[in-house]
Amino acid sequence: MIIMTYYMDVYGCQMNVHDSEIIAGILEADGFTNVDNPGSADVILLVSCAVREHAETRVLGRASQLGGLWQNRKQGEPLIVLCGCVAQEHGQDLLDRFQNLDLVVGPDCYRDLPLLIRNSTRQALVEFRKGDYTGIDPLRKRFPGAFVTIMRGCNNFCSYCIVPYVRGRERSRSGDSIIKEIRDLSEKGYREITLLGQNVNSYRELDTSFPELLDMASDAAGSAWIRFVTSHPRDFNRETVEVMVSKDNICNHLHLPVQSGSDGILQRMNRGYTIADYREKIRMLRDSIPEIVLTTDIITGFPGESLDDFQRTVSLLDEIRYDNAFLFKYSERTGTSAYDLADVIPEHVRLERLNYLQEFQRGITLEKSGELRNRILNVLVTGSAKKPDQQAARTRGNRMVILQGTDYEPGTFVDVRITRADGWTHFGEPVGVEDI
Ligand code: SAH
Ligand code: SF4
Repeated sequence: MIIMTYYMDVYGCQMNVHDSEIIAGILEADGFTNVDNPGSADVILLVSCAVREHAETRVLGRASQLGGLWQNRKQGEPLIVLCGCVAQEHGQDLLDRFQNLDLVVGPDCYRDLPLLIRNSTRQALVEFRKGDYTGIDPLRKRFPGAFVTIMRGCNNFCSYCIVPYVRGRERSRSGDSIIKEIRDLSEKGYREITLLGQNVNSYRELDTSFPELLDMASDAAGSAWIRFVTSHPRDFNRETVEVMVSKDNICNHLHLPVQSGSDGILQRMNRGYTIADYREKIRMLRDSIPEIVLTTDIITGFPGESLDDFQRTVSLLDEIRYDNAFLFKYSERTGTSAYDLADVIPEHVRLERLNYLQEFQRGITLEKSGELRNRILNVLVTGSAKKPDQQAARTRGNRMVILQGTDYEPGTFVDVRITRADGWTHFGEPVGVEDI
C-alpha cells in the first residue's frame, strides 16, 4: 500500500467535526497519515458548512487560496478535495467553477474517499445513501470528550434551513451499535460523551425512542457524562426530562433553539410549535431540574419580521433568561422554501437587530454567570487552555472554566470554586479531586 499524507480543515457544526474524525478514521485505515501543514500533504480535505452564506463563502475562499498556491499543478502536488454540505449542495458545479478542485464528495460518500483519492480522477460524488458510518473507527481528537452520532439527516424542513437538502432524510442508527460504542469509549477513559443528531428527540429505531436510548446510554457510559444536541422544542418531552432527572451522569444542560419569540414568524419558519408550547416545556423542565443550564439559537431578520415580532424575541430572552444564546442574522439559502418569501428584511436591519440582541443577551449571560461566584462546581478537566499556565475544564452545564496553575490529567473530575466569570468563560480554583 502506498502511504499518502493528508491535511484537513473543518468548518461548521459538531456533526461536521465528528464527520472529520470519521473521515480521518477511514483514511488512516487505508494507509494515510496526517500532517499539520497543507504544503507537505498529498491531499488536502476541506469539510465544509452550508448553513449560512458566510460559512460557504469562507470555505470556497480557502479552496481558491489553496488552489492558487499550486496554480499549474504538477505531478506530486496536493489534490484538493471538498467534502461536507457545500459539496453536497453544489456537486459538479463546483468542479466547473473551481479549476483547482479535484474531488467533491458529499457527507454520505466518505467511505469511498481512499479509492477516489488514489484514482485521482476529477469527479463529484454526492449521492444520498441509506446507511451510516457504523463499523468505522473514528479518529477522535477531543479526549476526554467524544461525539457519538445517533442519527443523520433531518425531516423537519424548517423553511430557512438547508440541512434537509444537504444531509438527506432522517435515519436513526441502531441502538445496539450506539450503546456498544459508548461502552467502548467509557472503557477507554472518555469522560464526556455527546450524542449527536439534527433532532435527537425524534430518534427512533425499532421500538426504541430517544428517552429509552438516553437511559441505556447513561448506563453504558459508567462514570462518563452524557450530553445530547440538538433538541427540537416540538419533540423534546417529559419522558426525556424524567430520564435526565433519574440519572446522575446526564448533564444538566439543554440546548433548545427557539429561533424567534413571535408565533407568526415561527409559523413562517415551519417550526411546529408556539411560544406558549415552548414556555410550557421550559416550565416543566425547570420545575424538574431547577439547576438546568439553558441555551438557544435565534435568527434575526427572517422575512416578514416586523418590529413587533422582533420585540417579542427580545421579551422572550428577557423572560426565559437563557444562560447563553447563539444569535444569527438570517441568510437566504437557495432551494429552501423561505428563499421565495416576500417581505425580505434589508441586510442592515438584520444586522442592527442582531447587534441589539447580542448586547441584550450579553447582559443576561454576565448576570447569570456572575451568580456562580463562590459556588463550588464539579468540572471535567479537558486539556490545556490558551495560556501555558492554564488548563481548560467544563461544568456539567457546559460552561467553560479556566484553572490557573494546575496540572491535572485530562479526564479528571475536580471540584472548583468559581472566582469570577467573563461571559461564558469562568475562572476557578480547585478545592479537591474526586475519586472515579
Ligand atoms: N438541527 C439543529 C441545528 C441547525 S443549524 C437545530 O434544529 O437547531 C444551527 C442553527 O443555525 C439553527 O438553529 C439556526 O438558528 C441557524 N440557521 C440555520 N439556517 C439558517 C439560515 N438560513 N440563516 C441564519 N441562521 C440559520
Ligand atoms: Fe434545520 Fe430545522 Fe432540521 Fe434543525 S430541525 S436541521 S433547523 S430543518
